[in-house]
Amino acid sequence: MNRKGHLFIASAPSGAGKTTLCNAILKELPDLEYSISYTTRSPRKGEREGVDYHFISEDVFRKKIESNDWAEWAEVHGNFYGTSAEFLKKTLNGGKDVLLDIDIQGAKKLRAGYPDATLIFIMPPSFEILEKRLAQRGTDSAESIARRLIDAKREIKEATSYDVIIPNGDLSVAIAELKEVIEKIRTTQ
Ligand code: 5GP
Repeated sequence: MNRKGHLFIASAPSGAGKTTLCNAILKELPDLEYSISYTTRSPRKGEREGVDYHFISEDVFRKKIESNDWAEWAEVHGNFYGTSAEFLKKTLNGGKDVLLDIDIQGAKKLRAGYPDATLIFIMPPSFEILEKRLAQRGTDSAESIARRLIDAKREIKEATSYDVIIPNGDLSVAIAELKEVIEKIRTTQ
């Protein structure tokens, strides 16, 4: 029987550098397929439709809940985010490994359906640095930053339920660590 793809699920508090890390790892491991999520949040400056996210309205999002289109979905920092069930099924059945950048609620839901999935938590060096990074990013309103910091405290507490924790102080060290984790798991699948 053909090998099915493996799920690598990365979660982190907002501002922990997860997107940068995921983009770097996708360059290093081009056979890894990225799951482009759907969201009702507005695009940030520089974000592209169909690359960073599929940006959809709340109405369309809710219709997709009714028609069971989501492998998982969650409300995060006041917006809706979802993973396409069809994309996941097709890609995994095609034998390709998938990288997802989703929150802890989504990671838990997917783990229930895919018990072999690897859950990777990207840990910021400190809460103060997280705060600084969010402010320096300059892409979120003060209100959104405040909400993301409150959520971060709760998210960090959940890190212990993850399979792997990768500290993201030095980006190149974190990339190397993440690559090692993924490659090691791939050899055992
Ligand atoms: P951001 O708005 O900063 O791009 O993402 C906010 C949070 O939503 C992040 O924790 C990100 O991982 C999460 N997220 C992105 N896509 C999905 C998804 O499809 N499902 C879930 N559950 N969370 C997602």
